[in-house]
Parts: sequence; C-alpha cells; structure tokens
Amino acid sequence: MNAPVISLHPVGETGCATAPVLRERGQREVFCGLTGIIWLHRKIQDAFFLIVGSRTCAHLMQSAAGVMIFAEPRFATAVIDERDLAGLADANEELDRVVARLLERRPDIKLLFLVGSCPSEVIKLDLSRAAQRLSGRFTPSVRVLNYSGSGIETTFTQGEDACLAALVPSLPPSPATAEAELLVVGTLADVVEDQFARHFADLGIAAAFFPPRRSTALPRVGPNTRFLLAQPFLADTARALEARGATRLAAPFPLGSEGTTRWLLAAADAFNIELSTFERVTAAGRERANKSLARHKAQLSGKRIFFFPDSQLELPLARFLSRELGMQLVEVGTPYLHRQHLADELALLPRDTALSEGQDVDRQLDRCLAARPDITVCGLGLANPLESEGLTTKWSIELVFTPIQGYDQAGDLAGLFSRPLVRRLKLAV
Ligand code: SF4
Repeated sequence: MNAPVISLHPVGETGCATAPVLRERGQREVFCGLTGIIWLHRKIQDAFFLIVGSRTCAHLMQSAAGVMIFAEPRFATAVIDERDLAGLADANEELDRVVARLLERRPDIKLLFLVGSCPSEVIKLDLSRAAQRLSGRFTPSVRVLNYSGSGIETTFTQGEDACLAALVPSLPPSPATAEAELLVVGTLADVVEDQFARHFADLGIAAAFFPPRRSTALPRVGPNTRFLLAQPFLADTARALEARGATRLAAPFPLGSEGTTRWLLAAADAFNIELSTFERVTAAGRERANKSLARHKAQLSGKRIFFFPDSQLELPLARFLSRELGMQLVEVGTPYLHRQHLADELALLPRDTALSEGQDVDRQLDRCLAARPDITVCGLGLANPLESEGLTTKWSIELVFTPIQGYDQAGDLAGLFSRPLVRRLKLAV
C-alpha cells in the first residue's frame, strides 16, 4: 500500500513556534564563508572564484578542497600582502593584472567572482568597485561580480548566500505577462537536482534552478516567479529575489520523506496541482524513502543527539531525525534563527526542544559534556576534543558536501548518523 500523503495546509502543529530560545553571543567555533566555494565551483561549471585574501585563506582552500595538482582548478587566491593605504593603488593594479592574465589563459571562464576575505589589508580594498571596473573591461565575454566570504560573518554557509545574492541582479527579467514559474533556490548536487526536475515535470510544473550549472543559462525572475528555498541559509538571496518581485513559497526543507513531500506539496499547492496527481507522482518516492529509513530507525530510535551551531541546517535535520527516526533532541543549536524561513520547521519540532541561537562555545561544551548525548553534530574544530571525551561526533560540514535532499537520499542521510553510532558500538566490544 502506498504511504498516505500528508496534508500541508495548515501544518496544524505549533511545535516550537513560540518556544523560548537561548541566545548566546560569545566565542564561536565556525569555518568562514570561503568554504562555500568548494560546492559552488562544482555547481556553476563556467565560473571561477578568485579569493582576494591572505596566505591563510589560500591554505584553508587548498586543504579543504584537496585540489589535485593536475586538475585545472576553478578557484585560486590572489594573496594581498600587508601594505599601507598608499599601497592600495598598487593592489588594485595588481588585481587587474592577475585577472587579465587569468582570463587570457582561461577562455572557458564566463563568470568571475572576486571573493573578499577578512584580513585587514583586504578589507581596505573596494572589491565592488574592482568588480565594476573589471566587468566594464571584460563584458560581454566575462561577467565579474564580488561578494564576501569573510570569517567575520555568522557561519560558513553564508558564503553561498552572499554569492547567490550577488548574482540575483544579473538574472534576466521575466515578462510581466508570463505564466507563473517555479524557481528552486540553493545549490543542490546535480543528481538531486535531476530528481527534483523529474518530479516537477511529472507534476506539470515548469521549474528552473538557481544557481544554474552554466552562468550563461541564468533563470529569469519577476513577479510571476514563485521560489522554493532548497537550503535554509539563504536569507539575503531570498530578500534580493523578493526585491525583484518574486514570492517565496513557505515550506519545510526537503530532508527526509516528510520534508521532501511537504516541500514538493508547497509547489504543487501554489501551482494548483490536483492532490490525486501529487499522490500519484510522489507515491513511489515516498515508499522508497520510508523503506530505506526503516533500516536505520532500529539503530537511531531513542538515541540522544546534540547539535552545535554550524551550518544552519540544524533545525531541518533535527526535525527529520526526531519525526522520522525517533531520535531525542538534547539541544538544537543554530548560528542564526531565521524565524520566517524556518517557521514550518519550528512548527514540526517537538514542543519541548531546547533551542539555542549563536554560541558561547565553552558554556555549550559544558552543557554537551554534562548531557553526554549518543551523537553530537559539530564543526571540525570541536570533533576531536569531544571524541577524546568519549563522545561520538558527526562533522556538520559533511552534511553540506553530501547529497542529502530528496526521497532517494533519505536513507543515505539517516546513514550519516547511524554509521558513527554503529562504529562506536563495534569499537566498544
Ligand atoms: S577569510 Fe578570514 S577566516 Fe577565512 S581563511 Fe581567510 S583569514 Fe581565515
């Protein structure tokens, strides 16, 4: 028998919608926004990311991305050394020279991002003026844009938000008379994008994806655009799209069987698709997802999980793990809580969930060590110290690098949490 479809309007639960949130503003342990380049450069295949930064930035990218020396990478760092204000004119000239050399050597580049970083010598440079100057010189063959990937921002996923928000003004306008169109916003692995594209096509909805695989195929946007966020960390991008007249469709995020169903249903509802059509199109996917989750439920049900704030995926993950796998949420930390974009997630979380926003890392470590959860989701910097205290950890960055959205990835997503627990049990024998 097919799994019954759930009703979306209204979600009908209030969950944590009005729950108190512990707000902390202390020392943080997070990666910087440059990290987003790793998945963005794979997605937009004719884009190049030129980090304007220091040797530290270059080292971070080199080790985080593990670039092969024989590959033609699509990102690099222009290292700006310490210099006084009088040296800034030279820095601009140097940047222009580096860009000209790069574009001459790499005619495959159609979109160049100048990515700012946090060293003080870089902050003194006006990268938006540099991007305008260089765009004037290289348009139409290359578009040059800029954004900040600096570690001063809240969290590493904000790099993607800043990148996409910088790209929104370049999206072509859609004619005022055009029919409603769906735009899926947020980087998805190609395999996931293909699956969603098939679901939307089967539902009879014309859908485009942003960012696109090629910068020469930017989707159009206008008052007829209805957009669905595929990632929960795109506040600035959503604001920029709304300023172009687009309307956001409220939905939870497409993690797990329920999240994917509710996400697709939000689109189906906005495009007046019959519920029977929706049931028919999604039945097989829901069944596959539910079957693959059952295998992991035995290992995860009743286990206690603690989330340190890192990726902004924490709330959707917590909702998935508690509702579909029976896990208990000890604390769900998020670097930033966007109440509007996460309203449907908050409504689905268990009523008594301990939510925290921001971080005071020492105090949070104390809470985590006192609670001794079965598994802790955290950034790389905290994983080793927690493991040495006998706790099982999961790197949150892995959840951003791995295809986890959609029906066919639900089991893989659950496996990311059940595997470390099984490994720990084996080690303990
Ligand atoms: S942007 Fe700042 S935090 Fe990120 S690698 Fe460069 S120096 Fe470090």
